[in-house]
Amino acid sequence: MDEAYPDSMIIDHVLRNGRPGSVHRGRIGLGARATGAEIAISYIVVIGQEPGPTLWINGQVHGTEVCAIVAGINFCNSLDPKTLKGCVIFTASGNPLALESRTWSTQQDFGQNLDTMFPGRPNGFVTERMADRLSREVLAVRPDLLLSMHAQGTDFESMVYGVYKLPPDCSVKPNELYRYMRCFEPFAICHQSVKPGSGEHPGNHAGALDYMALAHGIPAFMIEFGVAQRATPEQVRFGAACYGRVCAELGMLQVKGDGSKADKTWLVSARSHCNSDAGGMWQSAHNPGVLIKAGEEIGTVTDLTGVLVDTVTMPKDVLLIAIRQDPVVHTGDSVAYLAHDWTSFNFD
Ligand SMILES: [Zn+2]
Repeated sequence: MDEAYPDSMIIDHVLRNGRPGSVHRGRIGLGARATGAEIAISYIVVIGQEPGPTLWINGQVHGTEVCAIVAGINFCNSLDPKTLKGCVIFTASGNPLALESRTWSTQQDFGQNLDTMFPGRPNGFVTERMADRLSREVLAVRPDLLLSMHAQGTDFESMVYGVYKLPPDCSVKPNELYRYMRCFEPFAICHQSVKPGSGEHPGNHAGALDYMALAHGIPAFMIEFGVAQRATPEQVRFGAACYGRVCAELGMLQVKGDGSKADKTWLVSARSHCNSDAGGMWQSAHNPGVLIKAGEEIGTVTDLTGVLVDTVTMPKDVLLIAIRQDPVVHTGDSVAYLAHDWTSFNFD
């Protein structure tokens, strides 16, 4: 714990008291494990020589999604605060317990999903406490943009895509987010419904970090980037370059070298998981990103005696956002992540 500021929001304190052109590293203490080991949210704060916008990158809310963390560390370490306008805040993991246990959700309180818990509860279960502290740190700073970084699960494959949600009466309009999402070259930008029963992973999606920020008027979105439990050199370099492009788009950095951005994407207004009715071995011939026509086979499930037990099709055309790679499926498992309504979108 950063003992110098026990009673204030630490990141806000660092920003207010750090001198221009300085870099700060530390941990925000949340409590202790039974052994006495600290539970803490780690941060890097880079304060530019000149004033400017504030970008907050949260590297992880789900414990297995690690690529954006490595990219964020490398990006922050590559920044020269003397050439930066404004401040970059990087919180590596909102859920250090899940990171340590190498699990997507928090094992200590029976598999809670941190990204359904915001704004959290200060005296509640540990996942609620993590959400509470990160919420209050973010709201004290009110960054100009918050990136909530995710990765595709290990059992799926997808290309990079962006996700945003819209709280009621949200003061931030989607097209204000697109210009920053564009920096990640997303093959699709999805509007995610937070209504129960909409085919998303079960849970309270109005409790997501980016939703919490948007509900307070802070521009925020999710990027699904890389694959969980992997951080390949290519993905890490790409992620760090994308963070640099976002800074350039915010006017915080001069674009140098890799300033490329996507020209077009798909805007997805309705999507859902496709859940298997059968159990067995899943197989699909498709790659993510393709259009699958109504009635066309998405994939099959064969039981372990070799009998075909299900052929998965959809009654309308769908766009394949992600496709399952792990063949082992039980009834109810997701085999694909599908867009049901989408339009082509040119960024310029
Ligand atoms: Zn995630």
